[in-house]
Amino acid sequence: SVAYFNGNFIESDEPALPIEERGHQFGDGVYEVMRIYNGVPFMLDEHLDRLYQSATAIKLPLQQDRESLKHTISELMDKSGLTNLVIYLQVTRGIASRDHLFPDCPVSVSMTAKPFREPPAEARENGVSVMLHPDERWENCYIKSLNLLPNILAKQAAYEKGCFEAILVRDGKVTEGTSSNVYMVKDGSILTTPLSNRILPGITRMAVKQIAGELHIPFVEAYFTPEDMLRADEVFITSTTSEIMPVVRINDEEINSGEPGPVARALYEQLKTMIQRF
Ligand code: PMP
Repeated sequence: SVAYFNGNFIESDEPALPIEERGHQFGDGVYEVMRIYNGVPFMLDEHLDRLYQSATAIKLPLQQDRESLKHTISELMDKSGLTNLVIYLQVTRGIASRDHLFPDCPVSVSMTAKPFREPPAEARENGVSVMLHPDERWENCYIKSLNLLPNILAKQAAYEKGCFEAILVRDGKVTEGTSSNVYMVKDGSILTTPLSNRILPGITRMAVKQIAGELHIPFVEAYFTPEDMLRADEVFITSTTSEIMPVVRINDEEINSGEPGPVARALYEQLKTMIQRF
């Protein structure tokens, strides 16, 4: 598949960067994952807003402006020959001799374009299992940082238990998934963790908030516990790649009837409409 590194389009398996690159050595950078449906990037401006916010938060001087990044994304999309794809975009503090202090060099920009792989149809039909896991991450989870070790360890632990996702818990409250935002439905209202430095402001979360408004479903941003989630009418998670995924089991305990609920389904249908309008 095609990729991009600092001005050059390459194959994604081609060697492209020197050993002493700060993304490689320090994870000193930020990233975005964007979805393109039928040749149209979905909520691209929101993803780029978040990229610039992440870059600013780590004092990374991203000189490429929005138009230039959009141009590269569109070129990469064309070169990929794909219309339904995922673009991964990463920006790091550049190529420099290894030293913790900020280097004086241009930032690195890399991208990959991959065909979109739908989550298993079975998962969407029947819902997925999740497990609870302590949130062992730092205090700045609103930054989409390359440092994903706690997320990777929790996701792998979930996978080894046959679960689709690990739901992270901090101070007794649900924060988010390792790569998703988490919601519960109770008495007709959607509850989700409020935005703070403890979670990533998901772009799909933003879409769900808008859709809930369109469907006149109350969208309440409030903390909840794993016990609240177990007693919920429905639970679901969202992300760019899984869209809206119903959760039917937590640590082997069934939620409600153990089947996907009507709110998650209605939101999913409305999300598909929103994507088509885009
Ligand atoms: N939280 C975390 C920790 C994530 O990695 C992701 C995936 N990017 C999300 C939430 C969902 O965000 P989005 O809807 O923008 O993909």
